[in-house]
Amino acid sequence: MRILTQRKETELASDFYRKEGQKIGFVPTMGALHQGHLELVRQASEENDVVFVSIFVNPEQFNNPEDFKLYPRKPEEDTKLLSDAGCHVLFLPDPDEVFNGPAKKDFNLNGLDQKLEGKYRPGHFQGVAAVVSSLLEIIRPEKAYFGKKDFQQVKVIEFMVKTLGLPVQIIPCDTIREPDGLAMSSRNLRLSAEARKESVEIFKALTYIKENRGKYPLSDLVSKAEEHISSMPHLKTEYLKVVDPESLEPLKDFIPGKEAVACIAVYADEVRLIDNISL
Ligand code: AMP
Repeated sequence: MRILTQRKETELASDFYRKEGQKIGFVPTMGALHQGHLELVRQASEENDVVFVSIFVNPEQFNNPEDFKLYPRKPEEDTKLLSDAGCHVLFLPDPDEVFNGPAKKDFNLNGLDQKLEGKYRPGHFQGVAAVVSSLLEIIRPEKAYFGKKDFQQVKVIEFMVKTLGLPVQIIPCDTIREPDGLAMSSRNLRLSAEARKESVEIFKALTYIKENRGKYPLSDLVSKAEEHISSMPHLKTEYLKVVDPESLEPLKDFIPGKEAVACIAVYADEVRLIDNISL
């Protein structure tokens, strides 16, 4: 596995593979890797000739400086995991290499960036769009892999890629969970033992809504699920919304035969966790 830190050498590496007729799959990450990330790498290896992974804790997408500071960083372990997982090129850039000056912040995201997470993390998706568009321009992959764990992020990136006309296929990948159901996340490393134990209730609450779709009014299901989470001493719901998967608009009730997605953000003590489930 080659480890590259400069924009120029990464562009050259990608040019080299493309000229050889090799298909490039790309997995952007912020590191502190877990099985969820490695599953994206595995799928990318299966569907492409060469796999590029980036690790970049993007300051532009953190609206809370403390969250940025405390975000887990494990470069040595990550490098070993990626090398074992079949990554060919690891791009580990500094912000200057990614942004080439001030990051662009006026992407047309069709308002998708204002919904759900957007209300609580202003500017977050503009920061995500800035980093992902830049990485896609440097690496120019055929396919790029994103986890459905960050459901809204997938929708935002799909829209951005379409409007910018970037020649890449976005591949959404299923959420990988711990055996007890908690969605894997680098942030789980920061959970206390008590908060970790309770955080399984997040997925249980989402599953409750899924299993009872159609049996009770949607608003009752959401209230019940919220009450359940509120009864946990270490958990606090920031939002729980059932939305249309395309517009991300909250639904007042289910539409028979139509998919809906329940999206949630919860503070487990001071650690912010998100999850979602297709209903
Ligand atoms: P992050 O390092 O958190 O920015 O995540 C990098 C990529 O991995 C994003 O596309 C995430 O959606 C994806 N990802 C993170 N956690 C999971 C998970 N538990 N299952 C599947 N994909 C994930």
